[in-house]
Amino acid sequence: MPKEKISDPYDLEAIDGLGPVTAKKLINAGIHSMYDLVTSSPTEVMDVTSWDRDVADKFITKAREYLELGGFISKSYRTAKDIYIERQVIKRIKTGSESFDDFLGGGLETGSLYETYGVFGSGKTQFCHTICVNVQMPEDQGGLNGGVLYIDSENTFRPERIESIAKARGLKPNDILDKIIVARAHNAGHQMVILDYAGNEILKNNIKLVIIDSVMGNFRGEMVGRGTLAERQQMLNRHLHKLLRIAENYRIVAVATNQAVSDPNQSFGDPTKAAGGNIMAHASTYRIYFKKSGQNRVARFMDSPMHPESEIKFKIAESGITDVDDDKKTQKADSEKCS
Ligand code: ADP
Ligand code: MG
Repeated sequence: MPKEKISDPYDLEAIDGLGPVTAKKLINAGIHSMYDLVTSSPTEVMDVTSWDRDVADKFITKAREYLELGGFISKSYRTAKDIYIERQVIKRIKTGSESFDDFLGGGLETGSLYETYGVFGSGKTQFCHTICVNVQMPEDQGGLNGGVLYIDSENTFRPERIESIAKARGLKPNDILDKIIVARAHNAGHQMVILDYAGNEILKNNIKLVIIDSVMGNFRGEMVGRGTLAERQQMLNRHLHKLLRIAENYRIVAVATNQAVSDPNQSFGDPTKAAGGNIMAHASTYRIYFKKSGQNRVARFMDSPMHPESEIKFKIAESGITDVDDDKKTQKADSEKCS
């Protein structure tokens, strides 16, 4: 355990025994800081440094210890009370719909990975666009005062939608658009590289929300057939765990949208399930199923460490995600004004 606290968690050379040559190799490979080192797997580090496994493990552990000692990340061993206290300061991004926020316990929480899945047109991308704007609001208005990294694998990111959502909140669209970094992921390998190099972008641009829309599209499209299934699941596992570690260590919100597939084994109820199998289910902290319901949408918590299985309705409007009874609320406010 290091004895001295470090003041600069971005300085790799502050790690005892790590020299400038290795630091340079790590930086060239996208590992710019101690944060990046602890969010990398030992195999990734071994690939770029030609270290043996035990050396890679040693430096990752050291970086973790320095960060823990300096209070930059949570300690590995904590009491339940420590965790309880830490959870009190978790910050949240509001969704635009009060019912949705209540359902989430106040909004999307930092340090967690949310998987939203549903069929085409169920509102996953509209949800992502809305939170891209909301995260930029000040904390007392339901945001985190931070930017966004939007990894777009389906070419469905639309700045025009951001413009409308921003205008509806009285914000200047250009300022909001400026703080959304969009990375178009052309294939599964490219998508993995984008996330592997995300650490530096996150720190440089005060990013508080990372979105991958959709996380599985590239993996499913390219890797078909039994032969590559094991390889695909392994890559996906690494990718998702990287995303989860990013959420935890940088204390930001991560959202991954996922496609829904029909489950031939399901004979009762809704035959839709999330793509990606168990790997997807294990990596995400919260899973939310989106479904169309007439003009509205339904969101259902499928798997949460702290919420019962429950569902709410919301609406997609020009202003983004809103409550179903928003019109009613506006009418009520108007009639109160008149009386
Ligand atoms: P998914 O990503 O789940 O496939 P989307 O989030 O793209 O689905 O949702 C698409 C739906 O969102 C459209 O079918 C439409 O109903 C709704 N939508 C898109 N833009 C607007 C808008 N400007 N105003 C209202 N609804 C919209
Ligand atoms: Mg979409």
